Amino acid sequence: MKRRTLLGAGGLGLGAALAACSAPQSTKAEANQPAAPAVMRKKARTLRMVTAWPKNFPGLGTAAEEIARHIGVLSNGSLSVKLYAAGELVRAEEAFDAVSSGAADLYHAAEYYWQGKSKGFAFFTAVPFGMTAIEQLGWVNHGGGQALWEKLSARFGLIAFAAGSTGHQMGGWFKKEINSLDDLKGLVMRIPGLGGDVMRELGVSPKMLSGGAIYQALQSGAIDATEWVGPWNDLAFGFYREAPYYYGPGFHEPGSTVSLGANLKVWQSLSPQEQQAIRGACGWVMSTSLAQFSYENAKALQVLEKEHGVKVRSFSDDIWKALGKAAKKVLDEVARTDEETRIIHDSYMHALHEASAWAQVSDGPYLRLRALAGV
Ligand code: CA
Repeated sequence: MKRRTLLGAGGLGLGAALAACSAPQSTKAEANQPAAPAVMRKKARTLRMVTAWPKNFPGLGTAAEEIARHIGVLSNGSLSVKLYAAGELVRAEEAFDAVSSGAADLYHAAEYYWQGKSKGFAFFTAVPFGMTAIEQLGWVNHGGGQALWEKLSARFGLIAFAAGSTGHQMGGWFKKEINSLDDLKGLVMRIPGLGGDVMRELGVSPKMLSGGAIYQALQSGAIDATEWVGPWNDLAFGFYREAPYYYGPGFHEPGSTVSLGANLKVWQSLSPQEQQAIRGACGWVMSTSLAQFSYENAKALQVLEKEHGVKVRSFSDDIWKALGKAAKKVLDEVARTDEETRIIHDSYMHALHEASAWAQVSDGPYLRLRALAGV
């Protein structure tokens, strides 16, 4: 099988304004006095950040910790972030309401968790057969995505930014080999969001389970298959013990972006330097997390195959074609939900088609040809 990898997301600048208030001009009388501190540091303002991840969860929980740390440093100590793992202040799925209502100030989560509020949010995490992580960041930062995201979030009293990425996710763990469309029919699979809607079109019963509940469901037979993230996170949960066939790449999450959301009133109350500290922290973690997932997934895949005998497979072409057809149907339905979602959908699709044309002469053939060259 061909394994696709993402090019590193180098060059995401911090660009954070660290300038402290300039010191007042000293007078002659003051000249011989010991220098006063340039800034009379006020007590740091503490922002409460709720997250959708377990404490120290590799790649995502740790990204939230990095953001919190960077906000403190980049704001020159004017902000400090108190971090809450999922369940500590609110449950993962309550993070949106908590920040929207002002019960918390920030969240670190994935926008597709908020699809119940608006289907439009899905486009800011991942879309079946959609953009890779770096293509999606291109749309958000340079192709009008951020403005659409801010308009959507503002309706809920929020503002949000890209703040990490898992890179390309895997298609999932199956107890049995999947050779034909018939093999998929009747399977119960843990696969959330639009990917689940696509699988349903192929006769699969999609199920949503939180990460911690998946292993037991596989073990008890309550589910026949599951997707989660990629080798690094999947290895930690030990799914290979119950389902030895590992299908990739995933069609459903080709580069999942995670996000930092802020209460809009809180955001507007911050100084330009503090706002830039938050943006800078998000940009920094966007690049480091994508690079870390790419690096750690590569290592974990070796462990899964060599130490645990995992059988890595790719779906047959007829399954891929059926998935593509089903994804188009699901996305067309999503676009018809409401006018706002249609506008986001159309903007996303425009960027996707342009990115795809470029990828077909760059990343796509390069990765195939690199393998052909024996690397
Ligand atoms: Ca996933």
